[in-house]
Amino acid sequence: MIPVTKPYLPAREKLDKYIDGIYEREWLTNNGPLVQELTKRLEEYLGVENLLLVSNGTLALQIAYRALGVSTTNRDEKPEAITTPFTFVATASSLKWEGVEPVFADIDPDTWCLDPKNIEKAITPQTKAIVPVHVFGNACEVEAIDEIANKHGLKVIYDAAHAFGVNYKGESLLRHGDAATLSFHATKLFHTIEGGAIVFKRKEDLETAKKMMSFGITGPDAIEELGINAKMNEFQAAMGLCVLDEMEENLKARATVWHRYERELSQSLQLQVKSEDQDYNYAYFPVVFESEERALKITEDLKKNGVSVRRYFYPSLDSVECLGARSPQPISKNIASRILCLPVYTTLEENEQESTLNLLVNSLSN
Ligand SMILES: *Cc1c(COP(=O)(O)O)cnc(C)c1O
Repeated sequence: MIPVTKPYLPAREKLDKYIDGIYEREWLTNNGPLVQELTKRLEEYLGVENLLLVSNGTLALQIAYRALGVSTTNRDEKPEAITTPFTFVATASSLKWEGVEPVFADIDPDTWCLDPKNIEKAITPQTKAIVPVHVFGNACEVEAIDEIANKHGLKVIYDAAHAFGVNYKGESLLRHGDAATLSFHATKLFHTIEGGAIVFKRKEDLETAKKMMSFGITGPDAIEELGINAKMNEFQAAMGLCVLDEMEENLKARATVWHRYERELSQSLQLQVKSEDQDYNYAYFPVVFESEERALKITEDLKKNGVSVRRYFYPSLDSVECLGARSPQPISKNIASRILCLPVYTTLEENEQESTLNLLVNSLSN
């Protein structure tokens, strides 16, 4: 079976060397040397400052909300954050988990990112933040979102889980917002098995978050803040350092697959429209079909022939009961019902790409 994604496994010998070092030092977690090294290397690679490694991308979001004062322990407040319904569930469930009501605003039908026009309409006196997603690595309209946030005194936290390495107007897209969060889950473009990071705009927010992610403990006998445990360990960092070394080849292989799909499919299927001001990381290849029926039929046809495709992102989060949406978001629902992501990963062989495309094209013409 050709899966829709496969975790990237770096050279084993290299990983073993890092693990030997961990055994020698007997330092397994709590801001160890490999976590420090990976922090520095990622800041360099991505072109950012104030990067904080954490244990996963969901806690990255939660800690960003806390450090920026969006979620609070004050029970009299009923904070709200405006976010997109077209994303992985963690974007919105992490808000709800933190006691912040996710208020959905609809997406742009072409870019599939939060539409700034709909953000302003969703603002209430309780709104404290905007949580947009650079979905599939596509840059949101960051200038327009900044302007709305400034005008209304709101924080902006970008869920940038898909935007690793994406540049916008010549610099890292992660520099936008009060914070941008990353996921380093095994299935993501860059991974540490499980892991994540927050890139803060301001150093003082980074410092607050550092305390929060380690129980609020600030010294041998000092507890300064209410905290949680979100520490990355040395084994995660070792994997990250190895994967980072091989990023260029990894990207090259994905770009080949991506461009081949684009060449073959852009005439017949709806693809995501990207800003001219950005580059792309080839993390996903989503396509939108004419109808849900067609998308489901293709899924079946491909599955019968050993190829899996996935409905990312489905269902649209305004349909998920536990998230408590106030109103339906028709554009997101519509795209979510017709979208499929095709297999993209570094070790996807040429004949596998070929057969995936052939199956898809045949199924389309039936
Ligand atoms: C993967 C993902 C997350 C969650 O990250 P984890 O590291 O799995 O906790 C959050 N948001 C988006 C958009 C994601 O794709």
